[in-house]
Amino acid sequence: MTTHPADRSPTHPRSQPPATPEAGPLLRVAGLTRSFGATSALDDVSLEIRTNEFFALLGPSGCGKTTLLRVIAGFEQPDSGSVLLGDADLLALPPHRRPVNLMFQSYALFPHLSVERNVAYGLEREGVAKNEVRRRVGEVLDTVGLTALARRRPSQLSGGQRQRVALARAIVKRPQLLLLDEPLSALDRKVRAEMQLELKRLQHEVGITFVVVTHDQEEAMSMADRIAVLAGGRVQQVATPQALYERPANLFVADFVGTSNIFAGDAAAGGVHTRWGLLPGTAEIDPGAGAAHVMVRPEHVRLVDVDRAILGGQVIDTQFYGGTSTVAIEIDGRDEPVLHTHPGMAPVRRGDVVHLAWDQAHGVVLAS
Ligand code: ATP
Repeated sequence: MTTHPADRSPTHPRSQPPATPEAGPLLRVAGLTRSFGATSALDDVSLEIRTNEFFALLGPSGCGKTTLLRVIAGFEQPDSGSVLLGDADLLALPPHRRPVNLMFQSYALFPHLSVERNVAYGLEREGVAKNEVRRRVGEVLDTVGLTALARRRPSQLSGGQRQRVALARAIVKRPQLLLLDEPLSALDRKVRAEMQLELKRLQHEVGITFVVVTHDQEEAMSMADRIAVLAGGRVQQVATPQALYERPANLFVADFVGTSNIFAGDAAAGGVHTRWGLLPGTAEIDPGAGAAHVMVRPEHVRLVDVDRAILGGQVIDTQFYGGTSTVAIEIDGRDEPVLHTHPGMAPVRRGDVVHLAWDQAHGVVLAS
């Protein structure tokens, strides 16, 4: 029988401490570079992950997320850079000696073993005493809510239940760091939403630092304490979900995270000078910096009277979502409609002429 890599991390000698957030960095990645031929999968990646943090790596397909996880787990060697876990140089250790576990997208469960045997497998291979294996497997199955299904085989489980088995197997060995590669991607929408909550609860309960890879920004925002946004192998921004959303560091993050209205022009005092006049915003960049964009979220765009308007246009669509409506407004000289989110039902209809404004504090000026 082959050993799955997820089963090879060493056993932590003691129980984990309760999940209290600690400020210090657990993992320090610095100047990590990895190329595959002409493709730069990781390009000078540096970031720090804190103890007991739920950390997400977010970015579009091919941005280097999986490569970064694989380097941390030891299945890939970087061309240069360092990876420290506490004071230990992880790159000097083979995968099975790293106190890190990687949970694969495919779960990679053994089909012929029961749930409890799947979970016990890694501990048994390490020669952990039978009683201890039984106790720990029992505890973990209880934590993930699978005690009643312990005797079933993977084929007799739903997708969400299989996911829990994979999680149980990953946490039973108490790694210091659990890496999860797109852990929810195989699940349908409803189960996925449940498992987002579940993963968060679990991370808190077991007190293990989680690093989750996802290309789904809503998923990252709903689960993570902090998120690193990657694009083209480079870190674009590391921040809390709220900071990413409210103060994106650049155009890529502004566009990738959440829905946004973005206007191009030139940086000016109080915002960005565009073909529609000065659109208000605040900036860290110099008003004389040249080409710039201003970004405003749909919920900050307001319908106003004409005398207070900074933009005007015609409603081309309204969509009602229950709690909110989204109104799409066509503006002369712009390809994409401006989006406005309204609480409840929007008081406008397709064809109406409307006037729009936002507060300067809600416009984010970004260098081009
Ligand atoms: P996805 O969300 O699609 O899994 P990702 O962000 O995880 O993407 P990676 O799998 O890290 O991206 O890949 C980053 C880049 O490196 C991609 O362009 C990919 O094609 C390339 N790459 C990754 N592994 C290899 C490899 N073994 N050989 C050649 N190219 C590779």
